[in-house]
Amino acid sequence: MPTPSSDDAFAEVKAKVDLVKVVQEHVRLTKRNKDFWGLCPFHQEDSPSFKVNPQMQSWYCFGCERSGDVFTFVELIEKTDKRGALQLLAERAGVELKKLSPEQKERSDSRKRLLAMLKLAAQFYEYVLWSTPAGEPGRRLLGSRQVKEETARRFQIGYDPAGRGFADYLRAKKRSLADAQEAGLLRRDGTDFFAERVVIPIRDERGQPLAFTARTVRQDEQRKYINSPETPAYVKGRVIFGLDLARDDIARRGHAVLMEGQFDVITAHGAGIQNAVASSGTALTDDQVRLLKRFTDELLLVFDADRAGRQAAQKAVLLAAGHQMRTRVASVEGAKDPDEYLRAAGEDAAKRWEELATKAPSGFEFGMEEAAAGLNLSNANHVELAARRLREWIAQFPTPIQEEYRERAKRWMGVSGHLLAAEPDERRNSGRPNTAKVGKNGLETLPAGKKITVGRYLLQLLAVRPVAFDRVRTKITPDELDEEDRGIYVRMLETYERGGVFGLEKELAGYPAEEQDLIRRAWAAPPPNVDEEVAVELAERIRLDRMKGRHSGIIRELSEAERGKDSERVARLEAEARELARAIADMERRG
Ligand SMILES: [Zn+2]
Repeated sequence: MPTPSSDDAFAEVKAKVDLVKVVQEHVRLTKRNKDFWGLCPFHQEDSPSFKVNPQMQSWYCFGCERSGDVFTFVELIEKTDKRGALQLLAERAGVELKKLSPEQKERSDSRKRLLAMLKLAAQFYEYVLWSTPAGEPGRRLLGSRQVKEETARRFQIGYDPAGRGFADYLRAKKRSLADAQEAGLLRRDGTDFFAERVVIPIRDERGQPLAFTARTVRQDEQRKYINSPETPAYVKGRVIFGLDLARDDIARRGHAVLMEGQFDVITAHGAGIQNAVASSGTALTDDQVRLLKRFTDELLLVFDADRAGRQAAQKAVLLAAGHQMRTRVASVEGAKDPDEYLRAAGEDAAKRWEELATKAPSGFEFGMEEAAAGLNLSNANHVELAARRLREWIAQFPTPIQEEYRERAKRWMGVSGHLLAAEPDERRNSGRPNTAKVGKNGLETLPAGKKITVGRYLLQLLAVRPVAFDRVRTKITPDELDEEDRGIYVRMLETYERGGVFGLEKELAGYPAEEQDLIRRAWAAPPPNVDEEVAVELAERIRLDRMKGRHSGIIRELSEAERGKDSERVARLEAEARELARAIADMERRG
């Protein structure tokens, strides 16, 4: 990012950490000549093709062709973003990020104090639950919900006894009651906020408690659940419950199971479904989807079986589609929520779950079924109504995928095309400008009259986010680009290989004037959607166009060969065309 202040921080941190040491925490390295070699942590391999160059403080994998510096390494291995990598490495190097103003310093210190307090509280509640007579009501509640101690301990579930248990503990330990109050753990009168409740920590993806949600053990209590207030440490809608425990399994299985409630997730983990997480305390938010997207591209949504749950699922499908994530929706028939479903299945939970997950339709199909629910599709009036609902459903997806969805809806419903064609006013005015108009890659949002090519757009994106080269380069070769884009692409790629993410700023002065111009303009006014996924998508689109061009070239050549009765050439061209057509179809299906 070309902002000088954060640049300084990156440079300072980079000077203080050793890439070799950082890598060694994850990969066993062997020294060969000047370099270190090991098995690449980013792809499966049996012999080492992952190289770390200590002089350059850079790394490169000859297998998957990923490369970068210490920041990119941490980004990939910790599944975080650039900012997150900077923070992790700064902590390790003892670098204070930015010169903090006194107010900022105060805020950062108070956040640290809150986090320490929340950690202490979680330990206290857990201790009370399992190791004191006062924890009995909590143990009874968990028992009635069939939560085993082993599972409860993984979630660090605890119990806050009646009265002032935690407050007294803090006093005995000479800890600050004010901090505990600010963290939302004590009421103003000094009593425990979570008294007589089973307390579940809401932890970030690294396992740090940020807040609590708590279930009462009293029959006469109206409010079953209460939650921590928002604090400088906790912003509702930014945390995914269970992610710290589920992240490895999400990576292994390639998808996350997204549920609504904390107990859904706890029961799921107890039943061996360890990639389950929940949007905690709110309907799914954009921030939460972005967080999940760091770990996976696919969500299996398992929401409550009631109407509210089904509507929440539809919203989640759309939200995920806006971030190019695939979704499937599983329904827990005969139960009110996943918790109840899994508990009823008892010993068979894992097997029943497998069946449920296999049957789950895609998010889009789920929405179609919802649209037609209760209608009789052999009745003309009903068909029209269903078609209208389907149109509305499709119009909420990002524009580039609407056409394909319309096709699928036609096949699914067996209605004629015109019923599903978007009406002009719906297209303009679907009431959801953000999902409907902003396309997958933002191309549609460019101001009219300033049309740029896909290639140019990709170059702009790479100028702003050079790390995207790591993936873009695996998707296209330079000669698949238009001639006018090829030179600058290769130059930028070389710069990136030499100098990593900051190379461009250092080497830009040596670029031809018009290339400098393009890059500076991209920095000054970044394209609307700076995202690696978008870059990859653009690269694939360029590749696809190139392949289609080649395909029609071959077809022209083919008719020429047929006229010339050159049977050998005909056979060869036919085979080529077939192969190409298959590749094109493959790409379009995936895209
Ligand atoms: Zn690799």
